[in-house]
Amino acid sequence: MICSFCGEKAIYYRAYSGKYFCTTCFKKSIEEKVIKTISKYNMLNYGEKILLMVSGGKDSLAMLRILNKITKEHASEIVVATIDEGIKEYRDDALEIVKNVCNELNLPHHIFKFKDLFGYTIDEIASLKKEYSTCSICGIFRRRAMDLIAQKLNIQVVATAHNLDDIIQTFLINLLNNDLKRLKWNLPVHYETSIFPQRRIKPLAEIYEEELALYSFLNNERFQKMACPYMHEGIRSQIREILNELEKNHPGIKYSLYHSAIGVSNSLAISKKEIKKCKICGIPTFSEKCSFCTILAELKNENANN
Ligand code: SF4
Ligand code: ZN
Ligand code: ZN
Repeated sequence: MICSFCGEKAIYYRAYSGKYFCTTCFKKSIEEKVIKTISKYNMLNYGEKILLMVSGGKDSLAMLRILNKITKEHASEIVVATIDEGIKEYRDDALEIVKNVCNELNLPHHIFKFKDLFGYTIDEIASLKKEYSTCSICGIFRRRAMDLIAQKLNIQVVATAHNLDDIIQTFLINLLNNDLKRLKWNLPVHYETSIFPQRRIKPLAEIYEEELALYSFLNNERFQKMACPYMHEGIRSQIREILNELEKNHPGIKYSLYHSAIGVSNSLAISKKEIKKCKICGIPTFSEKCSFCTILAELKNENANN
């Protein structure tokens, strides 16, 4: 087969668009999609400092490489941070990978440990008896860590490497949990307001996970391949499998779901009255106490009882 754009030998067929790609045209298509996503959602302003959360997986390294390339024209400054959740063996390799890529690109790299920020590693949390799954707790703690890191580094724009698959999975999880209020937080851009001081952006929001894997492979990127030992605890893995199966039989169905997720999330109005301040830490929340403070108190209790 030949590339639909330049006539070179094709290495990939994009089923949802019916187009064949050679290596060069495929990589270009991914980078152009990221540029389009950034401009479609007004993610960045000229000259802004951006905090990139890079875990060392294929998606975050792809985001780092692409943003490093394209933000030069924006005169933007990039700062990289990695969260070390304290998962034995899993995170060590990833930290080394991110450090090497940052050295290669000459970018500042900061590491923040859950243990220093919150007093617990995820391995310690996993060993305590608790109501929530380890992975859900880790997700809540990671979001809080991002707030704290951005504050410490004094940066207002935080980019994460969530891809299209992540967004539609989270959309379905929120629907299944009847958690409609959180839908807006899953949008490709969450603009800063007086309540939310940072702008959260997802520059890979319109790219399929499997295409990011191919992009990394074609770049000979060394990324962390070991799966997190806690990742199968949640419902996400099941939803991922169902969506992949649907996409195989109906190419483009993930894109349709993505657009529905954006439409539904944007149409939900959350009145200011519904947003309260956590009585412990003061961050915006929908109940008296935010999930982070609720879980932290539960862990302290559990620890005291052991
Ligand atoms: Fe944390 Fe879950 Fe990610 Fe593992 S898979 S690092 S537990 S959020
Ligand atoms: Zn081509
Ligand atoms: Zn709180």
